[in-house]
Amino acid sequence: MKQKGMTLWFTGLSGAGKTTISQAVEKELIAQGYKVEVLDGDVVRENLTKGLGFSKADRDENIRRIGFVAQLLTRNGVIVIVSAISPYRNIRDEVRSRIGDFVEVYVNAPLAVCEERDVKGLYKRARSGEIKSFTGIDDPYEAPMNPEIECRTDQETLQQSVTKVLTEVQERVHANDRVKVSV
Ligand code: ADP
Repeated sequence: MKQKGMTLWFTGLSGAGKTTISQAVEKELIAQGYKVEVLDGDVVRENLTKGLGFSKADRDENIRRIGFVAQLLTRNGVIVIVSAISPYRNIRDEVRSRIGDFVEVYVNAPLAVCEERDVKGLYKRARSGEIKSFTGIDDPYEAPMNPEIECRTDQETLQQSVTKVLTEVQERVHANDRVKVSV
């Protein structure tokens, strides 16, 4: 197989910057000639996991299905970019162990910053009680303990965050090349 597959898993609060960083990473990887597939939480919930809600059980099921698709693509040499809040640590770790070639990218900005950005106007609706079980407001977010990458989007530029992710990809691709050469 020419290309080493891996899953880049972006987790973090709504508005932390998952979509923004992952789109820039996608663009760059495609420009470099990689096969890339994106599984965006919002898009996935419109099709693959339509009908699931926001209870812990449904959120876990949502992540399990995304993880399953990511696993299939990863083993077929694709670089998979997952962008989903994925608030629960256990299910992220379960998916990590299934996929193996897994890079957890913790997109981290304080809640106050995410709320201030309020990209989709969802925090306002959550604060007013119109939306229930909103992550960070009245639903938990369990931060990664040991992410491969952390992007502090309130402190670093988009380009700095993107570079961190691309550097990790390059390192893994080249480590794989070295293994092939030594066999
Ligand atoms: P999410 O996908 O996590 O819900 P989005 O990417 O949709 O978040 O929104 C993040 C917002 O934060 C965007 O409006 C983006 O322009 C802004 N932003 C500011 N600084 C950064 C940064 N360093 N990295 C990523 N996004 C940033």
